[in-house]
Amino acid sequence: MSLTRVLIVDDRDEDNYYLEALLVGNGYVVDSARNGAEALVKARQSPPALVVSDLLMPLMDGYSLLRQWKLDVVLKLIPFIVYTATYADPEDEQLAISLGADAFIFKPSEPENFIAKLREVLANSAAGRTSNTVPVAGNENSLLKLYSETLIRKLEEKTVQLDKVNRELKLDITRRKKAENEIEHLAFYDTLTGLPNRRLMQDRLQHSFATGSRNKFYGALLFIDLDNFKILNDTKGHNIGDCLLIDVAMRLRSGLREGDTVARLGGDEFVVILENLSENAAQAASIAKTAGEKIIIALNEPYLLKNESYHGTASIGVSLFREQEITADELLRRADIAMYQAKSNGRNMLRFYDPDMQAALDARIQLEANLRNALADHQFKLYYQAQVNQHGEVLGAEALIRWQSPKKGLISPLQFIPLAEEMGLILPIGHWVIETACDQLKAWEVNPMTSKLQLAVNVSARQFHQQDFIEQVLKMLSIKSINPSLLKLELTESLVLNDIDSAIIKMNALKEAGVCFSMDDFGTGYSSLSYLTQLPLSQLKIDQSFVRNINLKQVNAVIVQTIIGMAKNLDMEVIAEGVETVEQYDFLKCYGCNLFQGYLFSKPLPVKDFEALIKQQTTMH
Ligand code: C2E
Ligand code: MG
Ligand code: MG
Repeated sequence: MSLTRVLIVDDRDEDNYYLEALLVGNGYVVDSARNGAEALVKARQSPPALVVSDLLMPLMDGYSLLRQWKLDVVLKLIPFIVYTATYADPEDEQLAISLGADAFIFKPSEPENFIAKLREVLANSAAGRTSNTVPVAGNENSLLKLYSETLIRKLEEKTVQLDKVNRELKLDITRRKKAENEIEHLAFYDTLTGLPNRRLMQDRLQHSFATGSRNKFYGALLFIDLDNFKILNDTKGHNIGDCLLIDVAMRLRSGLREGDTVARLGGDEFVVILENLSENAAQAASIAKTAGEKIIIALNEPYLLKNESYHGTASIGVSLFREQEITADELLRRADIAMYQAKSNGRNMLRFYDPDMQAALDARIQLEANLRNALADHQFKLYYQAQVNQHGEVLGAEALIRWQSPKKGLISPLQFIPLAEEMGLILPIGHWVIETACDQLKAWEVNPMTSKLQLAVNVSARQFHQQDFIEQVLKMLSIKSINPSLLKLELTESLVLNDIDSAIIKMNALKEAGVCFSMDDFGTGYSSLSYLTQLPLSQLKIDQSFVRNINLKQVNAVIVQTIIGMAKNLDMEVIAEGVETVEQYDFLKCYGCNLFQGYLFSKPLPVKDFEALIKQQTTMH
């Protein structure tokens, strides 16, 4: 018995396998094709007993296959089943039947129903009842019309579908783009202020370097740091701090030209990059200075932070750049150094970076490191400079500190005292000076030649303003059991005026115990009579700048005379410092000054030399 051969035409693998399995399982022999064209070739080579075809397929669809099938003299006798689901609707069935299909089965079909239909079609065919709707000339046109209409409709449906998919895809792309943008924003922008962050700023800097090297124009980097921001943050909370940062960012941005960059490095640090300023360095610097000063003014305007008004300032460091002479990091570092210079010069100002400053900074860092160990390593010495009366007799001395550095030799207090003040080291150093001075007074006490010498000790502002300064001094005097009237503390006008009320209290307490006070460098400060009368001073010390030109400058002579007159009226002693020449000495004596200190009598000396001086003088008198 010959087996019935069925040709399956379907472009989808799953459908092909399903039908093959179903048909083979039911005793049929199966051949398959992927589209109409392949099916025609296979069927002509070896005609099957039946064809089962899908409708939508590439190259040649089911309708075309059906038309060709029914036009072929051999094939038209072989029954044709359309088996389809893709967008199938009644019109498809109608068209397929009009084109001569013997049956139309919708996918998915129950296996039994499918096989039943197949058997029915085969039986009809065997009985010669194969659909013979071979398109006859008459209805060819209407058939073609129906055929093309169906195809157009399908095309339209497909277009609508594609449109929908396309729209979804576009939406998806937009969402992705947005997410990508957000990620990029996070990576390159500061979330609080929306300004470019350090990374983006560095990118732009590289870019400026590149353009700078082409047009030889200078640019400037301004490193901006808010003054006292930490205090605001600590006292008012981070919310308020954030408000300030946002406000600052807005002010910075609004003041810039197009093409300039403003970025937030983090914390209260901002950077402004000004490009293409000028080919001339001085001119570029001047433009950058003007821009920086504008920023300072803008940041000085009062802020309203959550209904509280706030006044803030900023310090700015500026470094010029051109070509790729230095790296972006180095440029930032330089502007940062200049910014620190602005801070240490009093804040709310702008400073430029220059290499000399860098060298000074390096030296300072070195000095700082050495200074830290100096006290513990016993590198400080007190030198003594004689103070004499109008007959040249030594009545006392000023103790002047020296730093004997193993690396740098003898270092002047002018170099390290201000540094020690900044570092806070002045407290232990100042304590050491008072202690050493007291030890010296004690040592001198036993010798009639030195037992009456009064010792003047310089006191720095920070030292004096310590809460327990009075106690420290009194304790030292009592431990060493020193006559307090032999100790004279030298204060400066600025120190006293800084907090005059507390100064008066402290000075009075110490004066009560017998300690004397001298006003050092007198005449250089705010000299006002009214404060002088309130202070328990026993001495005014005329600053050496007035003494230096006393015989050359009329105004200095007048000042010196005035100071001497004031001291007399207030019942204070007056001492002139920096007396170097006999002329100065004579002038001063002639104006009524009766105490003197200066190189004319003696330089500051190590204690042994000073004692030798006293000895020599005693034997002379
Ligand atoms: P000062 O207290 O005004 O000291 C006087 C300065 O003038 C000393 O400089 C002294 O050496 C110098 N001098 C004295 N006579 C003459 C003179 O005839 N001609 C010239 N050109 N200069 C003269 P020195 O020792 O370098 O001290 C500088 C400053 O350092 C002192 O000024 C004082 O403010 C500070 N200082 C010195 N020792 C101490 C200390 O132990 N503690 C503190 N806090 N400051 C100190
Ligand atoms: Mg002094
Ligand atoms: Mg002085």
